[in-house]
Amino acid sequence: MQKTILVTGGLGFIGSHTVVALQEAGYEVVIVDNLSNSFAFVLDGIRAITGILPRFYEGDCNDRDFMQQVFSKEKVEGVIHFAAYKAVGESVAHPLKYYHNNLVSLIVLLELMQQYGVANLVFSSSCTVYGQPEHLPVDESAPILPAQSPYGNTKQVCEEIIRDSVQAGMPVKALALRYFNPIGAHPSAHIGELPIGVPNNLVPYITQTAAGIRPELSIFGKDYNTPDGTCIRDFIHVMDLAEAHVKALDYLLRQDAPSLYDYVNIGTGKGHSVLEVVQTFEQVNGIKLPYKFAPRRPGDVEQIYAKADKAKQMLGWQARRSLDEALRDAWQWQKALKEKGILEKMQKAEANS
Ligand code: UDP
Repeated sequence: MQKTILVTGGLGFIGSHTVVALQEAGYEVVIVDNLSNSFAFVLDGIRAITGILPRFYEGDCNDRDFMQQVFSKEKVEGVIHFAAYKAVGESVAHPLKYYHNNLVSLIVLLELMQQYGVANLVFSSSCTVYGQPEHLPVDESAPILPAQSPYGNTKQVCEEIIRDSVQAGMPVKALALRYFNPIGAHPSAHIGELPIGVPNNLVPYITQTAAGIRPELSIFGKDYNTPDGTCIRDFIHVMDLAEAHVKALDYLLRQDAPSLYDYVNIGTGKGHSVLEVVQTFEQVNGIKLPYKFAPRRPGDVEQIYAKADKAKQMLGWQARRSLDEALRDAWQWQKALKEKGILEKMQKAEANS
């Protein structure tokens, strides 16, 4: 009997790749997404890869009545909760929007999981909870530092909400996955990242520059205390990250204890500098990228990369794909956006919304 997994935010970047990985592992997937930062045509991309169209409910995770309907219709055995706002800068300008959306949706979900006896939860957390760690690679025992932004704070508070609920005896088994920097796309180029407007993140900015959409990339900061002076991050292929969610769910389903809470780093264990990413992109794709050095971006930590041993021991997961592969896949996806007419589909969807 296939187990049904509810994926909130399942049409977003990490969500859609995780849906593919879940279907490939034999799970039945139900998606809830309000299309606030995603598009319904992503469903076609998922079906093009797996041959399976997931059931899709368009709506908001904060809307209790809507979510109640989903829980009453579907026999859900586990939830992967991606749906959240994620733009750091916007969260500084609009903190209430971020606190409301990211916290209320989790609370509604936990209450409904309790009401419907759904025991398994995988939560999208972030390495931002560590701030600039004192020791690298950072492991899960590192202290949680005061968040740099309301966005980062929502991730910390959400982890605490889950921890406290479990401590209070709520019968839920939950894992928070602390992601490092997801990049790349599915190698088929049927799904990938769909940033609306000017991208905040490095790799979409690189691919859009390579495609001629942006005149040049700005590398923020060249005087950091790192070998080449640019920041260091742990860039992880989005399909590796997607597969970590499947392993996390498998793990939870194997546990006999009625309730547990734990948190795990999901990174490659390797740090690459921003300049290295730019040069690797140029090399693997045979493209010269126009770039300049610009002042540091406020709020950036100098360097962070994961110690990923806990994920290996606990979940039997480790990243398998290289930076080269991720940057090749990211570029194939950028090209597909044009070749497959996805940009036009985005424009049409935005015009209709
Ligand atoms: N970055 C950059 N130029 C850009 C976007 C990002 O130099 O146009 C740098 C950014 O300063 C950081 C790294 O790339 O050092 C990763 O940034 P991103 O926003 O992708 O992820 P973050 O680590 O902030 O979550």
